[in-house]
Amino acid sequence: MSIEVRNVSKHFGDFAALKDVSLHVEAGELVALLGPSGSGKTTLLRIIAGLETPDSGTVLLEGEDATAQQVQQRRVGFVFQHYALFKHMTVFDNVAFGLEVRPRHSRPTKAEIREKVMRLLQLVQLDRIAYRRPTQLSGGQRQRVALARALAVEPKVLLLDEPFGALDAKVRKELRRWLRRLHDEIHVTSVFVTHDQEEALEVADRVVVMNEGRIEQAGRPEEVYHTPANAFVYNFLGDVNLFHGRIENGQPLLGDAVASNAESALVFIRPHLLDIVNDPAAPNSFRARVSHVNPAGPVVKVELVSEWGDPVQVNLTQERYRELNLERGTDVYLVPKEMKAFPDCQ
Ligand code: ADP
Ligand code: MG
Repeated sequence: MSIEVRNVSKHFGDFAALKDVSLHVEAGELVALLGPSGSGKTTLLRIIAGLETPDSGTVLLEGEDATAQQVQQRRVGFVFQHYALFKHMTVFDNVAFGLEVRPRHSRPTKAEIREKVMRLLQLVQLDRIAYRRPTQLSGGQRQRVALARALAVEPKVLLLDEPFGALDAKVRKELRRWLRRLHDEIHVTSVFVTHDQEEALEVADRVVVMNEGRIEQAGRPEEVYHTPANAFVYNFLGDVNLFHGRIENGQPLLGDAVASNAESALVFIRPHLLDIVNDPAAPNSFRARVSHVNPAGPVVKVELVSEWGDPVQVNLTQERYRELNLERGTDVYLVPKEMKAFPDCQ
């Protein structure tokens, strides 16, 4: 089922949580709402669900105005960060619950419920522990139960609000790959809220970047990552070094304006897009002094202070690091491999 949000605004008292937000989610798509805490992600999700009413604007489900529809009519499934499972019920009964409570005329038979629940538990790989209780499960397993429970009633839309937010990093990574595979299998239209850019870029078909109640950009992961609409998006999608510079003939440059046609700009360089060299004559380079080196990890993290006195972070491959012989206090030259500049107008 497609979702269309048209010009939705929402206030809480004087505070504008959503400001004229429009968004289209195609049937079968997995879309991530990505943004910092307080940017309006949950509010937008709750408006799509019918748990919250917008001040203005409309929500269309499958092309039909659903703004006045109750939650129950919208056929949405939810998974929250802390989805309280029924503690006194087994995994099986938790998943079966939504089917068991249906009115008699629409309730499947016991055998049908059993078959369906076991199929879902296989899908989330919990069929072998179907008769455990939630307290006997890990956090990752509990969230998989929550997901199976949401899917049991065959929702037309699945809404997930930071579903892996409370889990540790390793489990999070596992579960997001697993969610991606699950979605490839069942193709239910899904909206997934996260503040973790890596998670959004890895899981979603499309990423919607939100900030202060507005959508800054919506696009495929590679689009928002490689062609960010503005400084906020570039900044939010990865680590950056920020420099004051200029745009001259469309090219980003570091340092103050010299040419008359230069425009003052914010210049961003990602830590892995800076190389370190020992040659002061290297073209487009600037000088910096090494202040700290951390070689533990897949990349070597080097902290420096630029010739303008600003802190700079560079990530080097272990191989490049071994070639360089870096030590604290060494003067080196930094060569940007790629810069992104945005006019410094704000
Ligand atoms: P996010 O999910 O991106 O962190 P939310 O949509 O939860 O953001 O909240 C956006 C803003 O709206 C926050 O500043 C929050 O404090 C405010 N807000 C959300 N819900 C309410 C509410 N029921 N009453 C008052 N303020 C709210
Ligand atoms: Mg939230």
